[in-house]
Amino acid sequence: MTHFGTNDHSRRNFIKNSAIGIAGMGIAAPFTSVLAVDKTSLQTKKPGIALVGLGSYSTNQLAPALLETKHCYLAGIVTGTKEKEKVWAEKYNIPAKNIYNYDNFESIASNDDIAIIYVVLPNSMHAEFTIKAAKAGKHVICEKPMAVSVKECNDMIKACKDNNVKLSIGYRLQFSPYHEKMINLNKERPFGKVTYVSSQFGFKIGDPTQWRLKKDLAGGGALMDVGIYCVQAARYTYGQEPVALTAQEFKTDRKKFKEVDETITWQMEFPDGSVSNHTTSYSFGTNHLIVSTEKARGILMPAYSYDGLKGSLNNEILDFDAPNQQAVQMDNFALNVLENTESIISGEEGLKDMKVLEAVYKSLASGNKRVNI
Ligand code: NDP
Repeated sequence: MTHFGTNDHSRRNFIKNSAIGIAGMGIAAPFTSVLAVDKTSLQTKKPGIALVGLGSYSTNQLAPALLETKHCYLAGIVTGTKEKEKVWAEKYNIPAKNIYNYDNFESIASNDDIAIIYVVLPNSMHAEFTIKAAKAGKHVICEKPMAVSVKECNDMIKACKDNNVKLSIGYRLQFSPYHEKMINLNKERPFGKVTYVSSQFGFKIGDPTQWRLKKDLAGGGALMDVGIYCVQAARYTYGQEPVALTAQEFKTDRKKFKEVDETITWQMEFPDGSVSNHTTSYSFGTNHLIVSTEKARGILMPAYSYDGLKGSLNNEILDFDAPNQQAVQMDNFALNVLENTESIISGEEGLKDMKVLEAVYKSLASGNKRVNI
């Protein structure tokens, strides 16, 4: 089980979810575009996706989700581990001509089966493989965090623009009806304006030798990995960009967290003077989003898991039979490609989050000073 998993009821409820949840809640764009609109005419030209990096997320979430997608399918794989080639080829019926490694990756350019590259590598490899994919003429989904610096994000956006391919970041939660409900608190203002956002995401990390604890591969610690969800959530629930922040860092294990951050708290200021408050950690489990408005409060807890999200709004329980986040996310991008539209989770979204992360590290480096974003 991954640190984001809570239970496994979502597939069972997939049909029920899309019909009842969406009609009942008036869900906006991401849901209606994929689940409520008849796209059967597009079935014949489904784009093929190649997953790059067959680790935990590809194995346990993305590949299974690609068995549920309606507008794209798993066409190829890119792996540095020879033994995985046979296992994946057999399990997902992938022909040998669609299997690549990191050294011959660029030759994917001539493979018409593959329209979309999904980069699921350690964070510091995101920029390199996104740029290579763009140069190969392939559309790209890149996992979060988009990269490890603002400069890399800008380079990735430029490479995709220069090569006329689309870029999206793997923010699956923008495709959860629970988060859509929180986003609509600002968009539709049923209870007045949003006045405060509080969010935390942390988990206890295991294996001390893993890449997530190495600065050169991860770029940072808990903040880069899961704190980024809190940044996203504050930005999309306020519907504004933060203008300044102040951050504080705490360590209980200086050996394990020698290279990367263990626990960080930070507060973001928004243009109207309102504030959001956040904690992220690799040492303890915490997982919630609270959105206060003038007249009511929305609460999600857990807020950031793959499934099993729970919450309430104005003291009423939210109970969606939510669809598979990754399947909806990838279907949305496939439709962006097929219909030549822009992803709601574009490279610019990833860049905006990265600007905030850099500002957090800048505040820490300056001795907790308030920094402008
Ligand atoms: P894993 O460690 O499980 O897998 C990473 C894979 O990358 C490896 O299995 C390997 O695949 C490949 N790889 C290539 N070079 C290296 C290297 N030097 N060190 C380690 N692995 C290497 O990571 P995850 O799958 O958990 O995470 C991958 C990315 O996905 C991260 O950016 C993470 O932030 C993101 N992610 C996003 C989630 C979401 O909910 N959106 C959830 C989980 C992760 P191979 O053997 O095939 O070469």
